Amino acid sequence: MSKLKIAELFYSIQGEGRYMGVPSVFLRTFGCNFKCAGFGMPRDEISIEADDIAYTHANIESFQKYEELPLVSTGCDSYASWHPAFKDLSPMLTSDAIVDRIMEIIPHKEWKDEHLVITGGEPLLGWQRAYPDLLDHPKMKSLKEITFETNGTQKLTPEFKDYLSRWAGSKWGVREITFSVSAKLPCSGEKWEDAICPAIVKEYEDVGTAYLKFVIATEQDFADAECAIAAYRSAGFKGHVYLMPVGGVESVYALNNKNVALLAMKNGLRYSDRLQVPLFKNEWGT
Ligand code: SF4
Repeated sequence: MSKLKIAELFYSIQGEGRYMGVPSVFLRTFGCNFKCAGFGMPRDEISIEADDIAYTHANIESFQKYEELPLVSTGCDSYASWHPAFKDLSPMLTSDAIVDRIMEIIPHKEWKDEHLVITGGEPLLGWQRAYPDLLDHPKMKSLKEITFETNGTQKLTPEFKDYLSRWAGSKWGVREITFSVSAKLPCSGEKWEDAICPAIVKEYEDVGTAYLKFVIATEQDFADAECAIAAYRSAGFKGHVYLMPVGGVESVYALNNKNVALLAMKNGLRYSDRLQVPLFKNEWGT
């Protein structure tokens, strides 16, 4: 039976993108190929060393569970889902154990209108081989919609691509697969050539609906997003594009959410909120 290293498993409302407002189970896998230490930092201060300032300022040993971890105003707001210092907070769970936990946290103890968000970290790293066991579990039969929240750098393996095609067209009814691609612009601190991978994202459209979601704080970020959008379109990507305000904490989010909404309107793009910030203060487990 397959196992997954799970950083968090919780029930909440999807706060971002296409499924904003939909009751959702969030399965957050451990591990990421990026650090994104640059979010919220002035551009000339972004460096990879910022990782240690942003993520390990706290005394790691004093935290026993995710809910106790501090929120950060710079860098990746889900840092504990990939930073090695926090790996012991994330257990390896069998697909049976994960399904049991899901049945405990959804309101009717079976899938109704909830959708499953597989997030991270980066959920399309090596875990692709483990998802079929989980999704084929008898108690997952009535699940109709899945979103993978990915940074858009991981190619689908041929085996997983085949599996997803079968899952979407399965005998149990119409099912929907979505790839919410949060492509990382230079403000993240990651290199363009590593982060903007149009051919990979274009391929997601072979098995589901894919859309791009850019985190924006400044005009320079938007100029970068426009260059990235052009690159994705050149590769044949057809999906929607969302602009989303930066802000893992409420004070930062509130500074630029309206400006980003206006920018999206002005350019005929979609706006994504981060409802988990005003509703739940972006606390772990929300
Ligand atoms: S890709 Fe996402 S999870 Fe990974 S470091 Fe960047 S923001 Fe965090």
